[in-house]
Amino acid sequence: AAKDAAASGAEAAADQGAPTIFDKIISKQIPANIIYEDDSALAFRDINPQAPVHFLVIPKHRDGLTQLSKCNDGHEKVLGHLLVVASKVALQEGLSDGFRVVINDGVNGCQSVYHLHLHILGGRQLTWPPG
Ligand code: IMP
Repeated sequence: AAKDAAASGAEAAADQGAPTIFDKIISKQIPANIIYEDDSALAFRDINPQAPVHFLVIPKHRDGLTQLSKCNDGHEKVLGHLLVVASKVALQEGLSDGFRVVINDGVNGCQSVYHLHLHILGGRQLTWPPG
């Protein structure tokens, strides 16, 4: 219950445009292990990896995308771009035998940072269903 309250608190703060830790990574105020960057997307290694390779792909401009369920038709281009970047960087990371892309949304999805991000996991045999 405490985690749920904390999560919905973070969600409410982000909805009002509050910065998240990812803004500080984008602006290079805090260090991150960045493995890909272009004008609109950034990929960096997850600080708490759940697989031998675990990185995140985020839009540099959050533009209302605190979470996937806040998307609208105007986000189609950036959402498509994030998937293309995810695939390119996965192959760059040697994941030619396969990988998984995850987007956690909201409280039930276990989202903890309210700046849209794709998790890319690989480097071992993953199992299904996830927890
Ligand atoms: P979520 O639970 O889907 O919102 O995922 C947030 C992810 O961000 C988690 O896997 C965290 O380990 C990761 N994370 C949080 N802070 C940092 C950081 O400063 N650098 C890299 N990854 C982070």
